Amino acid sequence: MPITKGAGVVDINKRRIINGVDADVIQLYPMRHTFAWDAYMAGNANHWLPTEISMQRDIEQWRSSSALTSDERKAFETVLGFFTTADSIAANNVVLALYKHVTSPECRMYLLRQGYEEAVHTHAYQYIVESLGMDESKIFNMYREVKAIYDKDNMVLALNEGIFAPAFKTGTFENDQKFLENLCVFSLIMEGIFFYSSFAVMFGFQRQNKLTGSAEQIQYIMRDESQHLNFGINMINAIKEEQPELWTKEFQQRIIDLVKRAVVLEYTFATEVFPRGIFGMNAAGFKQYIEHIADRRLERVGLASQYNVTNPFTWMSEAVDLNKEKNFFETRVTEYKTGGQLSW
Ligand code: FE
Repeated sequence: MPITKGAGVVDINKRRIINGVDADVIQLYPMRHTFAWDAYMAGNANHWLPTEISMQRDIEQWRSSSALTSDERKAFETVLGFFTTADSIAANNVVLALYKHVTSPECRMYLLRQGYEEAVHTHAYQYIVESLGMDESKIFNMYREVKAIYDKDNMVLALNEGIFAPAFKTGTFENDQKFLENLCVFSLIMEGIFFYSSFAVMFGFQRQNKLTGSAEQIQYIMRDESQHLNFGINMINAIKEEQPELWTKEFQQRIIDLVKRAVVLEYTFATEVFPRGIFGMNAAGFKQYIEHIADRRLERVGLASQYNVTNPFTWMSEAVDLNKEKNFFETRVTEYKTGGQLSW
């Protein structure tokens, strides 16, 4: 869009997540969606890189013939098989599907940060696979070979295909609903459900004092991901306020049905990871855990909970809860903040 010379100060009330009238996507101020700026600042304060985490103990345990059972090895490999491509799917969705349609410059600021964080996460999985001397082509190709991973990825990719189309534009009722559906599928399902069995598996290892370097990587990733999820939910709720006509009863039911479909796929994936159950975690526990978090996602966008079950993995909320982070997170944050003040 060409710049209108002397057009006066931007009217903040015209700023919208999508379909901003005369949207000026270059001017950050005046800011309307301040949640995006808060997320951007939190992301910067939490900056980290995979290479900062020692993988030495993991390497020793992975090479040892007695430190891990064959079930544990299979679980770890399958989880990595999901992770290695999942964040590339997320990055593409942020950069190629969401970014160009978002007309709020402050939301674009955070999407840029989020896209970078997805790249750091893919780097972390690559770093784990390389450190342990695993077969890269096997692990990175698992999304095509393991049906339970394929089905999850395929659900997200198939539903989101429409808004990747070069001709896709927001501005009609149908397309705006399609955009909102993408956001729900991507945030609530991909980032809000499909990562969580895998997170639980990694923290299961950590609780057994196994593969703790990998688990630490995942803990950083999960901290970023909970911010991505919050931001996605904030965007969904802001669009609901700005364009309430999109949030029809029929649309709400569609989102609930998609979440329920995702819960089944995630549960199926968990049974693939843990055919016999390890660390006191079994398929029944996973089913209940996934149902529990699915209800939390639905509630955050004002939809009715569907399962009403308690959290069987209460220890997960400690791993997730950002207020109860271990000291190394605090240290890391301080180090980066100091780093920014160094003079060269
Ligand atoms: Fe993410």
